[in-house]
Amino acid sequence: MALSEFRLIQRFFAHTGACRTDVRLGVGDDCAVLTIPTGKELVVSIDTLVEGVHFLKGSDPERLGHKSLAVNLSDLAAMGAEPAWATLALTLPAVDEDWLEAFCRGFSRLATAHNVQLIGGDTTCGPLNISIQAHGFVSAGTALRRDGAQPGDLIYVTGRLGDAGLALHAAGKMALPASVQSRLDLPTPRLEEGQALAGLAHAAIDISDGLVSDLGHICDASGVGATLYVEDLPCSQAVRDYIHANSDWSLPLSAGDDYELCITIPPEKQAEAERLAMSFECGLTPIGRIKASAGICCLAADGQAVQPISSGYEHFSS
Ligand code: ADP
Ligand code: MG
Repeated sequence: MALSEFRLIQRFFAHTGACRTDVRLGVGDDCAVLTIPTGKELVVSIDTLVEGVHFLKGSDPERLGHKSLAVNLSDLAAMGAEPAWATLALTLPAVDEDWLEAFCRGFSRLATAHNVQLIGGDTTCGPLNISIQAHGFVSAGTALRRDGAQPGDLIYVTGRLGDAGLALHAAGKMALPASVQSRLDLPTPRLEEGQALAGLAHAAIDISDGLVSDLGHICDASGVGATLYVEDLPCSQAVRDYIHANSDWSLPLSAGDDYELCITIPPEKQAEAERLAMSFECGLTPIGRIKASAGICCLAADGQAVQPISSGYEHFSS
């Protein structure tokens, strides 16, 4: 017999992730009750993963549990926030205990690693849909926003770009190194990096829709433009091979799903940022500069302009 909704919540969601002392009341009541530390501001973000849009039908549930939390924590990372709590609205076509167990395993492992506690949610029946809201803190007034970039700022990215796009492109067609495939299925939210750079950076965003598209949001919000030097983009060998075989820079410029941070740093903070970044396992690479005039210009080493063949993902584009 299928588990009742109540027993299902008790079994799978009542004790998921870290156990935090600032949770006065977690899963089980009408609301969670939480304590916000003095001097901090609450930073909140929600993201939904829809089967058939964000992931393929039949995707591995453990990886989905990881990814659905990771994409939310990535938004907190882009604000320079320290994560604390999550809520989970889960719509399931049926109660599949093996699926739920695996999903919770993936979710819990990442939640525990970042001291995040699941504090509530909603469980409904329908087409598979995973909606997570993440909550974190910043010291009052220090959130890293999109609207602070200034002409002359250096543009940096964490990690590597294009692996997730390559994995999506190759799906079912060719085998890729596990290190590339896992960047699509198991993205790493750059939380420590975001927090470390929060005091130095002028602006930040996480790259979910593609570098040009997401940097474009910083530029629009800040009233500036940008120049990117494509040969400086940090890419795996597999992505480099693709670029050179196809003369196409779309993977690092516009493919998205990498969940790296794109950060602008004023020149006077460059040395300090690069010193800090020596402790980042994922690295931090300068890729361009903010300019006063609008528009994003991508340049090759010979000064020629480069256009990505495909552009960033948009849900409502036809
Ligand atoms: P209500 O009808 O009052 O909204 P629910 O039956 O939806 O209550 O939920 C009961 C409790 O279980 C609440 O504390 C809710 O936050 C929690 N909950 C329900 N679904 C989930 C879920 N998927 N993940 C975490 N907590 C959940
Ligand atoms: Mg409810």
